[in-house]
Amino acid sequence: MAINSDIQQALEKIGSVTMTTLDKDTMHSRIISICGIDEEGIYFLTMHVKPFYRQLKENPQVSLCGIYPSSRKTGKNAVGQPTWDPGFTLRITGQAREILESEVKEKAAAGSGIHQYFLEDASRYPAMRFFCIHQGKGEIFDFDFEMTHRDHKVLRTRFAFGGETFSNAGARIDPDACIACGECFEVCTFKAIIPGEPHRVDGSRCDECGSCFQVCPQDAVGLSLTI
Ligand code: SF4
Ligand code: SF4
Repeated sequence: MAINSDIQQALEKIGSVTMTTLDKDTMHSRIISICGIDEEGIYFLTMHVKPFYRQLKENPQVSLCGIYPSSRKTGKNAVGQPTWDPGFTLRITGQAREILESEVKEKAAAGSGIHQYFLEDASRYPAMRFFCIHQGKGEIFDFDFEMTHRDHKVLRTRFAFGGETFSNAGARIDPDACIACGECFEVCTFKAIIPGEPHRVDGSRCDECGSCFQVCPQDAVGLSLTI
């Protein structure tokens, strides 16, 4: 699967993201700017003299996340909890590879604006090197906790690209263990429980808050999975 327009638009809105790399067994995060996105991947740059470059070359695993429009709390709700304006977070875990100069030139010559930009930047900063996250998986977590624009708080969209696969979001109810008592439906403030025999979870709405896990008399609710 290639990177779709939803991911592109989300990343373009966020602009700068935190990116984490591994230096042996220690994680390092920094804010980086996303240079461009196309169907092959997500592009960013660094200089070859930086630890960031060395970390990427020694271990291509990266993890990025960002938020739009802001992580700033904007007020308090009726029960005194902090509130945020509606928005979304995006996170991706994947593999990055360096793009060689020959490939940059070839794609620039074929009309890619991203690669043309790389060539121009390299003429100013000769130590500049270019990377592409070519394989990954992630999630867009769209939130509207005060339900300003819709009747539920969360809408999660998971995705993968470059041959990667992902697990679905949300708590999981064991259909053989569920007795349809309705306790989970009563406590779920995210409107993610679908009543029935058995009850089910709409993973796209589930915050993985654990309230249903806490109240289920049958231990029928399973923990959610890593993406
Ligand atoms: S609380 Fe447990 S047993 Fe009751 S409906 Fe929900 S999942 Fe089923
Ligand atoms: S984990 Fe929370 S949000 Fe998800 S179904 Fe259970 S109560 Fe609802």
